[in-house]
Amino acid sequence: MARFAFISDIHGNLQAFEAVLDAIDRRGVDGILCLGDVVGYGPNPAECLDLVAERRIFTVQGNHDLSVIDNVEAHRFTPTARLSMEFTRDRLDDRHREQIAAMPKIADLDDATMCHASPIEDAGSDYIHDQRIAALAYGGFTNHCLFVGHTHIPVAFGTPEVGYAPVEPRHVRVAFLPHNLPMRLDPHYRYIINPGSVGQPRDGNPDASFGILDVEQRTFTVHRVPYAVEQTQQAILQAGLPNFLAHRLRLGA
Ligand code: ZN
Repeated sequence: MARFAFISDIHGNLQAFEAVLDAIDRRGVDGILCLGDVVGYGPNPAECLDLVAERRIFTVQGNHDLSVIDNVEAHRFTPTARLSMEFTRDRLDDRHREQIAAMPKIADLDDATMCHASPIEDAGSDYIHDQRIAALAYGGFTNHCLFVGHTHIPVAFGTPEVGYAPVEPRHVRVAFLPHNLPMRLDPHYRYIINPGSVGQPRDGNPDASFGILDVEQRTFTVHRVPYAVEQTQQAILQAGLPNFLAHRLRLGA
């Protein structure tokens, strides 16, 4: 039995992160992998990084993680993201900065590749939200699955095409991944899979999102977990972060 939990975009939301870890522990997995953006937007960046280290969760580096230690990345941010980045920087110490610096941008695990946004840089967009952008991303890996975060939407793309050769958008299928419905992985297809966001879902459902890959059954299943949204909202307001960051959590937007 080999089952792996994929989490992404925790964004300093400790309540959501703890609820997701509880749900994962109850199901029992062989490992937890994180697709980046442990910090940014949320009120508890240090606590979330500490929990990632404590639980030995292998993590690739997200753009918000990078912005803490890299000014070039930080300058690409919207005003709201930049405010939260400055707040995040104030909350972290050297140990946290080393932890972020040590995260790889991309990693291969057996027959899967993981990265935060896209394995193709400068493809016009690194948000894999439609078949056209997904088709470009297929040029950046040859493994059976690519796991990504970044859009905060639980979704899967599949194509029967192999290798680094360009994939045509019309040969890419897309499926949004609802709660608790296993998606069967065809061995002859290649997939780009996003487990959704732990700490800031943007698909209209405020519940924290994560996914479980069952290697033997060849399935990927997204799970949604309710958590104490009000507590995180309170913490955001108390931290002096923009109100919008608290409101969007209730909307899942
Ligand atoms: Zn994110």
